[in-house]
Amino acid sequence: QHLATIAETDDEIRAFNYVMADEARRRAAAVDATVAAGGDPGPMAGVPVALKDNMCTRGVPTTCSSKILDGWIPPYDATVVQRLADAGAVFVGKTNLDEFAMGSSTENSAFGPTRNPLDTSRVPGGSSGGSAAAVAAGYAPVSLGSDTGGSIRQPAALCGVVGVKPTYGRVSRLGLIAFGSSLDQIGPFTHTVADAALTLQTICGHDPGDSTSIPEPTPDYSSVLDRGVDGLRIGRIADLPDGADPDVVARTDEAFAALEAAGATIVDVEVPAFTYGLTAYYLIAPAEASSNLARFDGVRYGLRVDGADVEEMMRNTRTAGFGDEVKRRILLGTYALSAGYYDAYYGKALKIRRLMADDFARAYQQCDVLLSPSSPSVAFPFGSKTADPFAMYLCDTYTIPANLTGDPAMSVPFGTGADDLPVGVQIIAPALGESVMLQVAAELE
Ligand code: GLN
Repeated sequence: QHLATIAETDDEIRAFNYVMADEARRRAAAVDATVAAGGDPGPMAGVPVALKDNMCTRGVPTTCSSKILDGWIPPYDATVVQRLADAGAVFVGKTNLDEFAMGSSTENSAFGPTRNPLDTSRVPGGSSGGSAAAVAAGYAPVSLGSDTGGSIRQPAALCGVVGVKPTYGRVSRLGLIAFGSSLDQIGPFTHTVADAALTLQTICGHDPGDSTSIPEPTPDYSSVLDRGVDGLRIGRIADLPDGADPDVVARTDEAFAALEAAGATIVDVEVPAFTYGLTAYYLIAPAEASSNLARFDGVRYGLRVDGADVEEMMRNTRTAGFGDEVKRRILLGTYALSAGYYDAYYGKALKIRRLMADDFARAYQQCDVLLSPSSPSVAFPFGSKTADPFAMYLCDTYTIPANLTGDPAMSVPFGTGADDLPVGVQIIAPALGESVMLQVAAELE
């Protein structure tokens, strides 16, 4: 059924880089066979799942929506893919993204943008725009995205679905093609908080193959969803960076009011470093990206454009293979890490990251979770921010701090804004506090 829906409308939406039709039928048949034999097909048996195309899938092309990976087929599955497969999930395809997950609208994909299923003249957000659109369009009830600075939460908000970025280290990054290794985290898109809790349960957990994976047991997320918010303290951050649409501000105020009416207390907290998040991120993330993307050299993966010698071959390959935004990030990162500027830029950004963690820790002494808008605006029209990279970067002003601290954060749909488009509110919790975060989200849905 889901494959049929994809065949019907994805020519227009373009959520997928690759539809895994044969693979999906094979897995679905295997689930049926397990059931017929009286076996346990797993907690996600038969659930269609779409995967962002920066997660490795054995035998299935994985492109990061970049020409540089043209023709590369991973020889192994990412840990998240393996875990979902073990739980009985059925993968329906690989979803479009901003090239190497750099962007907020999916307009940076080398294969063309994904359209927002709620209004096809608008972007789905990004960088996991294909995964958000896949759920919103009914191509799969669950998809996975990756979030380095907001790439799950912002597209979730713009497509009217739930999106979760777990605590850094909660979900294995083995097989996720790295953008900013100290920031990247995989998480689910779903229609409901309960589906997000179940998917999270399946993909979380220690992985010895990822040295940053946290060796902690995974709590039972599904069991906390009906607890309500009575007695919880919800933090409202003073002096949040402004620039959010009035509708977005109004919905966020209403979310605070709804939680208060349900028995929570609203507490005003100070997180002064919050406003510097964007600046610090655009040094740290490009710095890490410039290093991570050095491996795409025409020798080891995908595309090779020949040249007179090895150096020229590498230059030709990278010139032809990377798009403009990826090149911009490599230049920014290389500059920030260069000997003469390291302390002034990268070193300074790391200090802000430290201050951010201290500010959040102080805030958590007064509250259980923080609440803010997820995105400053609802879904915007194609082309409206492409001429100005800084305007695009501002999309992540509310989401970036939780990547710098590593804290779990999620977006949950909460009413609509301009042109009846969905608004998402963000819940941020202390590290490993996914349970309380989901508990608050369940109250708001
Ligand atoms: N939009 C941000 C960027 O372009 C965040 C992307 C992400 O989370 N992958 O870097």
